[in-house]
Amino acid sequence: MPPSISLPRLRSHIEALSAFGRNPDGQGITRSCWSPAHEEARAWLIARMKDASLTTWIDEAGNTFGRLGEGRPTVMTGSHIDTVPQGGPLDGALGVLAGLECLQTIHAAGVRTHRPLTLVAWSDEEGRYASLFGSKAFVGRVDPRQIPTLASADGERLVDAMARAGFDPLEAHGARCDPRTLFAYLELHIEQGPHLEAARIPIGVVEGIVGIRRNRVIFTGQPDHAGTTPMERRRDAFLGAAEYALKARDLVVTRGSGTSVTNVGRVDVAPGVANIVPARAQLLHEMRELDPKVLARLERGCAALARQVAKRRGLRVKIEPVSRSEPIRCAPRVMEAVEQAAAELRLTCRRMPSGAGHDAQMLAAVTDSGMLFIPSRGGRSHRPDEMSDWKAIERGGNVLLGALLRLAG
Ligand SMILES: [Zn+2]
Repeated sequence: MPPSISLPRLRSHIEALSAFGRNPDGQGITRSCWSPAHEEARAWLIARMKDASLTTWIDEAGNTFGRLGEGRPTVMTGSHIDTVPQGGPLDGALGVLAGLECLQTIHAAGVRTHRPLTLVAWSDEEGRYASLFGSKAFVGRVDPRQIPTLASADGERLVDAMARAGFDPLEAHGARCDPRTLFAYLELHIEQGPHLEAARIPIGVVEGIVGIRRNRVIFTGQPDHAGTTPMERRRDAFLGAAEYALKARDLVVTRGSGTSVTNVGRVDVAPGVANIVPARAQLLHEMRELDPKVLARLERGCAALARQVAKRRGLRVKIEPVSRSEPIRCAPRVMEAVEQAAAELRLTCRRMPSGAGHDAQMLAAVTDSGMLFIPSRGGRSHRPDEMSDWKAIERGGNVLLGALLRLAG
């Protein structure tokens, strides 16, 4: 009989961690990285790692580790313990605590793996100061010159937040790992979307994490009196932006991969008063897609569309890149380990892209990286009622355990 995890123990850990940063009204959890609630949660986690007989340490970027076994290369699992403001109990926490549960189960069962296992909780995955900060530093992609410039949306500097939590921010790049010490990385996460629940599939095998293109699309027309200028003479920048937003949505749906998505998250209109025709309209437009060729095609298609719309309406248009990330593919070896572990438990699984960013996408730069998803109730996440069924959590934990044992040999 292969070992299996203890759901009561995992559940008690999930409930205990969810008390750190619990909002006073009892609704939701706010536990951003480096905050007092986060640092208390870290201390609690280290104590639980020690209970599980793991060797613990914290690196220069504030990533927390616990290790079972000696030698190298190691198989890593984990996620993050920071949350978004008013977040739920599972995003990140599940991957860390299910990983802890697996290592504790392996140790208690007296199973000796060929390779050591390492549990990790990455810093600031949610990006209050810088998205995926801990895993980025671990793979050597944090530029020390940039650290002093990083700040939260409300203006708090990363250097101050880290110093308050007892870290030296200018040393964070020292967290860079030696890739030869790593064998694979596998992260369990809630899906945060509706697909698995709707299809009644217990396990999602993540085949890759989407790339993101964010652009500022700026239409420029002419400010005119909104009462006296005939409709056919107006060069209304907002109407150009509105037409573009609707047509870009259609373009991404009809010419994408079927899982491509797009969003206009912000519109700014100037001069922004009722009695002047808008002279300028600026959209913040993003698109996400797993296949790099499709993503490039969608971006080119939307740029051509913006020019067409502008031309027909007598406007000018400018497209400024805001940020871009490339899609990553999960390692076949890691996906197969998850599929074999699920098959052994007679659980069906489905390969799917992740539309959200995760630390696993950083780890892909230095080792074979992968993820598995469990269904989210109602597809809800990043909100207080984020939840998954306990049965689904138990299944996910046992598939993680089976896959880690396969990878660790
Ligand atoms: Zn997460």
